[in-house]
Amino acid sequence: MMNLPGHRIRNTALAAIAAAAIVGTGVASGVFAQSTSLDTAQTVTVAQTAGQSLTVSQTEGPYFKANSPERTSLVDAGVQGTLLTITGQVLAPDGTPVANALLDFWQADSGGSYDNSGYTLRGHQYTDENGNYTLTTVVPGLYPGRTRHIHVKVQAPNGPVLTTQLYFPGEVSNSRDGIFDPSLLLSTADNGDGTQSATFNFVVNTA
Ligand code: FE
Repeated sequence: MMNLPGHRIRNTALAAIAAAAIVGTGVASGVFAQSTSLDTAQTVTVAQTAGQSLTVSQTEGPYFKANSPERTSLVDAGVQGTLLTITGQVLAPDGTPVANALLDFWQADSGGSYDNSGYTLRGHQYTDENGNYTLTTVVPGLYPGRTRHIHVKVQAPNGPVLTTQLYFPGEVSNSRDGIFDPSLLLSTADNGDGTQSATFNFVVNTA
């Protein structure tokens, strides 16, 4: 387990709100509580607030593991598949970028299998001072009962944990997946060299 420094974000627009919430101690990171919920629960749509809509939350599924390593690339030696780089921002509901937000990604490999004994294709990272993140990974494979997806937990400093999933456009199985939500579609592009790029911005509560 690792702990964050005691003083995390000083986001100008949110400073007043954040000041009330900052507790002065490290916020546990990469240590989201593990749950036993299945991948079949219904999507929960969070109420829209002023400004941007909060990113929809979704079930964690059965394969989350706490304490993932901190890294922006999940492509270890031996990981096969189509390279995929996802970039984007974590934003507050008013559109303000959230610096030092925690993102914890986990996904199946290109064959559709999760590493449940180790941390292959699992990792957490923090947004930079402009709320940006970059994830280097591979396109996850399909496994029975689900369309293609990447799991993620997102947490602004001192904010609640958002658990959700990201989806891929153009997948035949999207329409057959019980929890697929089009608001969680990545914007993908083929780079023309066998790799793909995608973007997704998260909107999360910050307190
Ligand atoms: Fe899954």
